[in-house]
Amino acid sequence: MWTGNHDGSEMAAIADDKIHLLIDGYGRAGGSEASRHAASSFVREVQSRGKWIFCSCREGAVLIPYENKFLHRRTQNSPSHDNNCPFWVEPHEQLDIVRSVRPHPPTWPFNFLRAFGEGGPKGVGGTSEIAKITTQTRRPKLARLLMGMIERSGMHRRGVKQQELGEQFDLLVDQASSFLLVEGVPVSQMLCRYASSFEDFASRFDTQASRLQWPEGVRPQATLLAVAAGVTDRKLVLRSGNPIPIRGRLSVYGRKDAPVNRYSSYLSIGVIAKSRPESEPALLDVYMHPCLSRRDMFLVGNNYERATFKVLRKLQLYYGNEIEIEIEKPVTDIGKKSFSRDAALVLEEIAKDGSQSILIPDFILRFPQFPPELRADIIVETMYFRGAAHRIEKTKSILMMKETLAYVKSVNHDFCFPDHISQKERDNAFIAEMRRAIERRLVIFGRGVGK
Ligand SMILES: [Zn+2]
Repeated sequence: MWTGNHDGSEMAAIADDKIHLLIDGYGRAGGSEASRHAASSFVREVQSRGKWIFCSCREGAVLIPYENKFLHRRTQNSPSHDNNCPFWVEPHEQLDIVRSVRPHPPTWPFNFLRAFGEGGPKGVGGTSEIAKITTQTRRPKLARLLMGMIERSGMHRRGVKQQELGEQFDLLVDQASSFLLVEGVPVSQMLCRYASSFEDFASRFDTQASRLQWPEGVRPQATLLAVAAGVTDRKLVLRSGNPIPIRGRLSVYGRKDAPVNRYSSYLSIGVIAKSRPESEPALLDVYMHPCLSRRDMFLVGNNYERATFKVLRKLQLYYGNEIEIEIEKPVTDIGKKSFSRDAALVLEEIAKDGSQSILIPDFILRFPQFPPELRADIIVETMYFRGAAHRIEKTKSILMMKETLAYVKSVNHDFCFPDHISQKERDNAFIAEMRRAIERRLVIFGRGVGK
């Protein structure tokens, strides 16, 4: 980050300690009065020199001091901050995002679609927009359902044994009865689990829906689950079966599209319903999350996480005869701090303690043979951002995750720094640190802990 003139001239780098202050005071997860006070002398100084703050997240993204203590996040002409930037949203908006990634209470029905004529189709239909979904934006309801099913099925955990894709999918589908599509109708009652026979499902939709009690205010709806190859021409492309047209909003985790290639693979969930009373049932909104491969629906965020997982998997198998290691990919926020539902109270709470980071570790290596009080688990984070502000924020949230998990160890797999060495050397440093951590646990385990 830099300070500079409005036209971008005379740019001067901001020191890391000042970036810390700005993130604590004005970042999405900060905002307490004390942290703003701590940052105010820097903000005042920038304003008195008539400068702006330029962010490294995106060309032209700015923070503009006013009244000697506040920061505007953009001007009419400047772009918004990147959604991975600490200054992406206001602290109170951040809480709304945090809530959306917390676990979904199984007793709350999803109600994906309202009844016809009641305030429209609720975000569905007609839009060709592709919503970019990353770890830092509000999680759509479809994703909340998918993550809930994954957690309950244990598919976010990988032991030594890897199930076949079909078995993984069955375990996931089993959990459809644990969540409510609408009040009184479990997801399992209206589920298209064989996407390759989507047309069949659509032709039986009315008959199946007519057997169920639909509460007032919602229209008959169903969900679809599939491991898809991607999206082409707004059609969900399967590895077998006809592509299914997507009539509503498509959200892809962490990216703008889901191009189909030989290896592409996405665990996908969609809502099926009629967009108008007279129309045929269609696939409306869809959410897709990249998974490891065509044969393995273990979720990953991106190729960096694929690389990190590969290392963890090798270590798990290598040490498998000596100690049990489980790789977990957490899919919901592990934060425990709760905030008021009342908007005015929330502002007071933020002024007191600040807002909250999203706390979803990239991976947790678990050692089930150790008693929990030994804190043997290891948080593993994939670091693939270069920007100072982002890295400082991530370091802060790793600390919070460690605190939440009662101070377990954490190890970073860095893809950027140190930048004078090759990626191979950075990988080796990560592997060596993981081996040391695992071998320390082996020594303790050898002394009889947990046996
Ligand atoms: Zn930014």
